[in-house]
Amino acid sequence: MLHPNATARIDEEAIRALPKAEVHVHLEGTFSLLDLLTLAKENGVPLPGPAATLFDISSHDAFDAPEVTTGGGAGAGSAGLSGFLRFLDWQCGLVRTPAQAARVAYAFAARQSASGIRYSDVIVNPTHWNTWRGRELELLDALAAGLDEADQDGLCRVGMAYSLLRSQSPTEAEDAVAALVAASPRRVVALSVDGDEKVTGRTGEKFQGAFAAAAAAGLHRTVHAGESSGPEGVWDAIDLLQAERIDHGVRSIEDPALIERLIADGITLGVCPRSNVTLGIYPSWAEHPLPRLLDAGVAVTLNTDDPAPLGSTLEADWAVAAQQFGFGHAELVGFAGRSIDASFADPDTKAGLRAELAAHAEAVPA
Ligand SMILES: [Zn+2]
Repeated sequence: MLHPNATARIDEEAIRALPKAEVHVHLEGTFSLLDLLTLAKENGVPLPGPAATLFDISSHDAFDAPEVTTGGGAGAGSAGLSGFLRFLDWQCGLVRTPAQAARVAYAFAARQSASGIRYSDVIVNPTHWNTWRGRELELLDALAAGLDEADQDGLCRVGMAYSLLRSQSPTEAEDAVAALVAASPRRVVALSVDGDEKVTGRTGEKFQGAFAAAAAAGLHRTVHAGESSGPEGVWDAIDLLQAERIDHGVRSIEDPALIERLIADGITLGVCPRSNVTLGIYPSWAEHPLPRLLDAGVAVTLNTDDPAPLGSTLEADWAVAAQQFGFGHAELVGFAGRSIDASFADPDTKAGLRAELAAHAEAVPA
């Protein structure tokens, strides 16, 4: 349904031209079909089905990863989630050498640049990368090498958010954070937790120690909540995990006191409408609470979550939001500004991007 205020659809080229950041995107959700086919050939791994339908979410139940993890990764909440997570495990299992890891990280930066994204936080959940079990720090180092090369080539700058899996034990989580803090791997800027809260129930308490250790060591905190959980998941993220950002958080709209808290604490929501609609959190874009969250005064960013398997790009998702909700140029400049503010980029990078955005907004009047 078109928003009554919708005018001409803002074209994707204008959206790409906006200097901006992306803050809720999973590296596991950005492998291109070419990346997958190349990795499968290099490793001599047969495809689980026809190459042309690898990204068909309805086909993912056919995936049979040798070591299947539970929960984790991307969005959550539909019958297709377990198949989707097996698909992520299968594809990440194809990344076996440091050179291959560096290549997928470099490809991510290039993909972000193609959307006009100048800085990105990317969520990396090592539990999906099953050939690196016990060597998570080596994986991070290989990914950082690819991100360094991308940076040198003038592509999107990237910081990594190391993600715990919601089904991990408190000890596993605390050990992972202790290793992270001791090694202080370059380009890791934050601790994250993702996975399906419908399966695990409330997990704020069990990760309290891990997030406190991360905060004490100066790592930022971003937490998946308010997607497969209701407002209580967002309260736990704020009160127990010291979250600075919430990934999704859309169900905060159900609790006026929580909305007030998000505004008072300056906590940004990393909203991903296409992911929510595809995975069945909301039946359609028209019923998505994005405009209501904005109207309530919550700082909202607009992100892709898992763009490759969702078959999308950031500019396509912004264009659909503009069409559905009647956003014009000024609103999109607002989304770009909030994406920069909410990012975990260093202060100089943020200041530079804010100045570029201001110059762009002036040159292209609404
Ligand atoms: Zn996500």
